[in-house]
Amino acid sequence: MQLRYNYRVYPTPGQQVALARVFGCARVVFNDGLRLRQAAREAGLPYVCDAELSKRLITEAKRTPERAWLGEVSAVALQQALADLNAAYRNFFNSLSGKRKGRKVAPPRFRSRKDSRQAIRFTANARFKVLDNGRLRLPKVGDLAVRWSRALPADPSSVTIVKDAAGRYFASFVVTTADEPLPPVDAQVGIDLGLTHFAVLSDGKKTAAPKFLRRAARKLRRLQQDLSRKQRGSNNRKKAVVKVARAHAQVADTRRDWQHKLSTAIIRDNQAVHVEDLCVAGLGRTRLAKSVHDAGWASFTAMLQYKAARYGRAFAKIDRFTPTSQTCSTCGRIDGPKPLNVRTWTCPCGTVHDRDVNAAINILAAGRAESLNACGAQIRPASVPAQRREAGIHPGAARCSARSAEGIPAL
Ligand SMILES: [Zn+2]
Repeated sequence: MQLRYNYRVYPTPGQQVALARVFGCARVVFNDGLRLRQAAREAGLPYVCDAELSKRLITEAKRTPERAWLGEVSAVALQQALADLNAAYRNFFNSLSGKRKGRKVAPPRFRSRKDSRQAIRFTANARFKVLDNGRLRLPKVGDLAVRWSRALPADPSSVTIVKDAAGRYFASFVVTTADEPLPPVDAQVGIDLGLTHFAVLSDGKKTAAPKFLRRAARKLRRLQQDLSRKQRGSNNRKKAVVKVARAHAQVADTRRDWQHKLSTAIIRDNQAVHVEDLCVAGLGRTRLAKSVHDAGWASFTAMLQYKAARYGRAFAKIDRFTPTSQTCSTCGRIDGPKPLNVRTWTCPCGTVHDRDVNAAINILAAGRAESLNACGAQIRPASVPAQRREAGIHPGAARCSARSAEGIPAL
């Protein structure tokens, strides 16, 4: 399975300039490609194929005076920018044709130097290298200092250098790891995700929602106010923007750590895990939007999914239209909608139900029924960063400490 391993990197001022150049060139090539395809479409010409795009926008463009500076950066980073554009188009077309499930995907958009996240990718072709002294060598950038918060488990196939809104730099390695099946256990579990309780398990276990964003609300509000008082375009404003971004990043990091702990425990204790396929995008537009966003159900389910695949457990999402909170888990009667404030109810069959535990039991039952004719969950590789402090070995990083107190971003 492919996983992402993220590390903070500390480029020198000179390397920051070099990286900024690569960010800029990759962005220009991406935008040139998008413009070319849009123009072809408007002129009624056929779709410009990937090879043609690469030839015209990288190889030939370098020979023109307007784009000669593209030669100053690694060509692989530029090719990867075009690969991103092609992937964006592919997702868009597949979404149009219905081949891709889920929310509709918008057509690719132009990238801006003001985007809060700048990223470039180097593949093995670019000959990036983790040196014996622990530095990361990038072509035409230099040897970057990396804080190895843990060791890489194997040689990475690519590295993405990210600069986030808080001005921090990260190296995100894609590593193919071997599955590590855990000894089988008998337990199976259904999980009801909610707002009062983050997760209620069919065995009756409840985990309170930690509400990281709400807890940090006062600090965030103060920083936001500081920011709004700064003059547009001033240096102090730029500093305030970074402070706000840093505070948000901290909330996200804490939430992710917490979710990793919970998902690991659930996967360790159960052979099969079933969750409801929540319509998070829909809920996110309601009055509960802030709480829904703060809960982070989507990232949590993604963690359960990749950990299940990695540790030899079964994972399934059940149909979101199953009325799990209305159905009696004892007799199967559908008792009609229950407002959110109804925490317990009694079925005519005499069973007294805890609303959430009953729902979790129904999710488990629906999941079991579905798994009889299931084709197996699909795993999107590398969509979730691997858990921190995971054991691993890499010759160049073996000596590094496992301490990792701050920021690793979700990608
Ligand atoms: Zn009943």
